[in-house]
Amino acid sequence: MAELTAFSDSYAEARKKFVDAARRAGAKLASYQHPGERGPGGEALALDVSVLGPGNAARVLVVGSGTHGIEGYPGSAAQRAWLRSRPRLPKDTAVVFFHAHNPWGFAHKTRVTEENVDLNRNFIDFSKPLPANAGYEELHPAIAIRDWNEAALAETFASFDAYRARVGEKAFSDAFNGGQYSHADGIFYGGARPQWANGAFRAAVQAHLGRASRVAFIDLHTGIGPWCEHVYLCFHPEGSPARERARAWWGERAVNLQGVTHKKLATYSGTVIDAFAEMLPQAEITSIVVEFGTLPRPAMQRASLAQRWIRFEGPRDPVLAAQVRREYEAAFYPADREWRQAVLAQSKEFIDRGVAGISSS
Ligand SMILES: [Zn+2]
Repeated sequence: MAELTAFSDSYAEARKKFVDAARRAGAKLASYQHPGERGPGGEALALDVSVLGPGNAARVLVVGSGTHGIEGYPGSAAQRAWLRSRPRLPKDTAVVFFHAHNPWGFAHKTRVTEENVDLNRNFIDFSKPLPANAGYEELHPAIAIRDWNEAALAETFASFDAYRARVGEKAFSDAFNGGQYSHADGIFYGGARPQWANGAFRAAVQAHLGRASRVAFIDLHTGIGPWCEHVYLCFHPEGSPARERARAWWGERAVNLQGVTHKKLATYSGTVIDAFAEMLPQAEITSIVVEFGTLPRPAMQRASLAQRWIRFEGPRDPVLAAQVRREYEAAFYPADREWRQAVLAQSKEFIDRGVAGISSS
């Protein structure tokens, strides 16, 4: 299974493989380097952009990885494998890959940025009052586990169950993972200011997409969906032309939430795909989030708790923290060969469909 070499164990390795594959495919490269932060091995961190096809193409498919740092490992492998598949592009069409939207989280193997910020909640207007999330306020004491053990976790999940029974699934999802701007040491924290990665993303969109008139954007994630399957999250409104394009290009499952492991999705604020569309008012935009499924939702909720515990409580118990970290990493980046094969096969297909979609009339 030689193609599994598309996967990497470190950000530096993934970055090198991506850059090499882009060069070999004949793509042009640009890089937006983080001015302050470094990876755990002292390596530089950057958002790298590859452009395959004409730089001034009217039709552009963008595929982004690593909005949630660690989720960039499978995303990066999908990008590299596609570049190595010797793709042929239709006329006036380009494929642009954004490698590592959040390179700090990618390198440090966590979903969040150097400021514990969920980049996919950070694209809000910080000149206005920050969005309130009263439900999160209520859940935070249960989320902020001090001592990581099964009894403490059971208590936290009992609190979640009680809250859910009272407010319903949708309000629970909004509270838990819709995004919150009040607890810098919490989960799904949207930040108090735009992150460096937010600015880098905006700069890259402006530099590479300002001339395109028809643009599709696939943002690659992991963690929502059944094991070995990908699921689509389409946020275009019901009945909109963009939603119909997503349906035509990727099929009914692109819009019907097939396989989604959340009973109700939260209403998210400050997402990358929303910012992307707002920045390109001149273009027809079709955007979709693709999630590679890993574990059932309770296990992913546990991973969210682990992420916070590792960062804020873990330094008091480095041995346990290393163990919790292994569990956390496996939830977002499974080592399983079959899972990795599925990522490569499925991503090749939906990226090809995206290319066919933007080049259809
Ligand atoms: Zn994600």
